[in-house]
Amino acid sequence: MKVLAVLYNGFKAAKQEPRLLGTVENKLGLSEWLSSQGHEFIVTSDKEGPNSDFQKHIKDAEILVTTPFHPGYLTRELISQAKNLKLCVTAGVGSDHIDLDAAVERNIQVLEVTGSNVTSVAEHAVMAILSLVRNYIPAHEMIERGDWQVADIARGAFDLEGKVVGSIGAGRIGSRILQRLVPFDCKELLYYDYAAMPAAVQASVNARRVKDIKDFVSQCDVVTVNAPLHQGTKGLINDELISHFKPGSWIVNTARGAIADREAIARALKSGKIAGYAGDVWDVQPAPKEHPWRTMKNTLGGGNGMTPHYSGTTLDAQARYAAGTRNIIENYFTGKPQNPADVIVGLGKYETKAYGQR
Ligand code: NAD
Repeated sequence: MKVLAVLYNGFKAAKQEPRLLGTVENKLGLSEWLSSQGHEFIVTSDKEGPNSDFQKHIKDAEILVTTPFHPGYLTRELISQAKNLKLCVTAGVGSDHIDLDAAVERNIQVLEVTGSNVTSVAEHAVMAILSLVRNYIPAHEMIERGDWQVADIARGAFDLEGKVVGSIGAGRIGSRILQRLVPFDCKELLYYDYAAMPAAVQASVNARRVKDIKDFVSQCDVVTVNAPLHQGTKGLINDELISHFKPGSWIVNTARGAIADREAIARALKSGKIAGYAGDVWDVQPAPKEHPWRTMKNTLGGGNGMTPHYSGTTLDAQARYAAGTRNIIENYFTGKPQNPADVIVGLGKYETKAYGQR
């Protein structure tokens, strides 16, 4: 059987650090195991265009392994060419790079290693919130430049204490972010989600649910985005919604870049409507050199906390999603039932409500 994996290149780093499992070089640690069972295992980072390894090998692969960090975009068109494809495994969390509706129609199962990196992302989001609110990145850059102008930094620096922080999407990651913010004594923690938080989680955060999104954003000093990308969230943070944000608020999006409108965010930062935007996810990955989010700035010349997509690919997370990927493939080979929480698309139907209300 042919197993195809699209991973990012680790180059020298992957040779020096074998725990970089999610790289082309280290192959999620699956190589020996798959070849010992007689399977063909193709691993590549070459994913764009009809002549790419991804688009050539998808035609006869039975299992596709991808990651959200260097997504192999499995479009409807590619699915129609993938005659043998039966199982897509996302090594990580977030399968929006796969046309899930087309997978449903073709009886292709889509599974994620649910929960594998949710703490990794929650920690990153808390760091990004603090970096923006406290104006940390421009302060550090000033020091590297050899300057020392305390007032230039302090004019854009605040305490998180006493602020209102809200999460769009309060599932595994959103609720973990809110839990981690409890000791900061925020004025209030809010969430907007079409599902209510489970009672035990709610008890640990004491967050208030706001059911109207405009009302929600108008109350938040910080909005953190933690919903999957699907038809109901694509372009959600656009000019219209931003007009309801509090002036000078901050946005942290570690969910998916395309949930926010690229140009609307850059405009809002430039105009001062928002004071900062941070995250690690982009509407196309790798982000093109000219992507405005690389260099956009607020009115004080700061407010940009963008990084490459790495919050969910810490070495700790890689160990978990590599093990989880093997487990899913092993279940598939042996016919054992999958962990229901991992199943996004089962045979011919969605098995989760997280990718939109149906
Ligand atoms: P989850 O399924 O536990 O939670 C998602 C929550 O979003 C659910 O409660 C769902 O009801 C809610 N939701 C869905 N659509 C919504 C909408 N339109 N409005 C409001 N709420 C909505 O998922 P999770 O594990 O918390 O992960 C969330 C997302 O974070 C993933 O889908 C992925 O895109 C992203 N993620 C990013 C990284 C990273 O490295 N940056 C890593 C893991 C996950």
